[in-house]
Amino acid sequence: MFDALAERLEDAWKKLRGQDKISKSNIQDALKEVRRALLEADVNLQVVKNFIAEVEKEANGAEVISGVNPGQQFIKIVYDELVKVMGESNVPLAQADKAPTIILMAGLQGTGKTTATAKLALYLQKQQQTCLMVATDVYRPAAINQLLTLGKQINVPVFEMGTDANPVEIARQGIEKAKELGVDTVLIDTAGRLQIDQDMMAELAQIKETVQPHDTLLVVDAMTGQEAANLTRTFHEQIGITGAILTKLDGDSRGGAALSVRQVSGQPIKFVGVGEKVEALEPFYPDRLASRILNMGDILTLVEKAQEEIDLADMENMQSKILEAKFDFNDFLKQMRLLKNMGSLGGVLKLIPGMNKISGADLQKGETQLKRTEAMINSMTKEEKSNPELLAQSPSRRRRVAKGSGFEETDVSKLIKDFTRMRSLMQQMGKGMPAMPGMGGMP
Ligand code: GDP
Repeated sequence: MFDALAERLEDAWKKLRGQDKISKSNIQDALKEVRRALLEADVNLQVVKNFIAEVEKEANGAEVISGVNPGQQFIKIVYDELVKVMGESNVPLAQADKAPTIILMAGLQGTGKTTATAKLALYLQKQQQTCLMVATDVYRPAAINQLLTLGKQINVPVFEMGTDANPVEIARQGIEKAKELGVDTVLIDTAGRLQIDQDMMAELAQIKETVQPHDTLLVVDAMTGQEAANLTRTFHEQIGITGAILTKLDGDSRGGAALSVRQVSGQPIKFVGVGEKVEALEPFYPDRLASRILNMGDILTLVEKAQEEIDLADMENMQSKILEAKFDFNDFLKQMRLLKNMGSLGGVLKLIPGMNKISGADLQKGETQLKRTEAMINSMTKEEKSNPELLAQSPSRRRRVAKGSGFEETDVSKLIKDFTRMRSLMQQMGKGMPAMPGMGGMP
């Protein structure tokens, strides 16, 4: 459906190359792509609007990391925001202080509610918990039979009172039965309708009031798409949910409903259903679904790579600058940042032959020097950064930089002197990268 989202984002972002900032005007195209992709993934329009506003805020003014493809950087911003919106980490089931923990299952008919009830029971059983399932859907005899069959299959007892009893009463007696059996958790399956229906809601509210569940889970079919937002809103307003289970994620939906559920109710998705089989239930991990919504496979690897990637074009550019003695403090900063992105100085140095014997104290000194150097460069004006001679010629400029960075004027003088020396050295060496700025003869 939007297989090409990643590519589209990169295209939209390509023109950012060589710019320092992601700005208001140059992100509009990319934002449009995100918006389209989310709508295609069936995320609710209002939810998309809020999301785009957040991404725009984050992206505005985010500095393009040197050596990183801006497209990838933008994808990371979108990805991070997706994870944030869906809840940063997995939220487990509620656990009662005193058994049994009561879990109420709610949702429309056909969403996979009954299946999810059995799936959860099996999941809990695997964690050495005992369960009882309660069948309250008296409107469809098939529903009770379905739960009985599933119960047999996974070896979990089912409490039912046929189709003539009152659902609220069944639920109440179900809890009594659970206490009597001494099970850890009782799962109450409820009746669903094809549409939201006030009788159904009233009954659900009454059951909830009676059994006082620790968790009220709304079962949402991932294929529901746009409707997921309204559905969640209604259930949350009228019943009050504490979480959701997103089913049928094995289908070809992108899972955009997850975004809606979380945004509309503020409640976490706790599990996802990934198949018809009773084993097909997984705890919900927002990062995995974010990858799926962006359709980028293992985006985590990509993002990590993006952060580490060294932009070769940038490097070549740097090299020609060195040869022409145009290497300035901006390039110098870029190199320092690159070094920082690669991890600790020690880690980087270890990779260089002959450098592995360097002592811990020397390393520490090197890192401190890098920090001092960066502080001083950051106190320079734009012109000074691109024209180091200005500082060489003007004591008052050097004094200002010293004051701004909290160092002595002699420190700044030494930086300028060392920098100039390094630059002419590099030029003499011709080829070869200025691999270790801030080291060697630097302050
Ligand atoms: P209920 O009416 O909400 O109780 O829904 P059911 O549990 O009876 O499920 C309705 C249909 O959806 C059944 O055919 C299930 O096998 C199927 N189903 C439930 N969960 C999933 C899932 O995660 N993936 C797939 N592919 N099918 C599912």
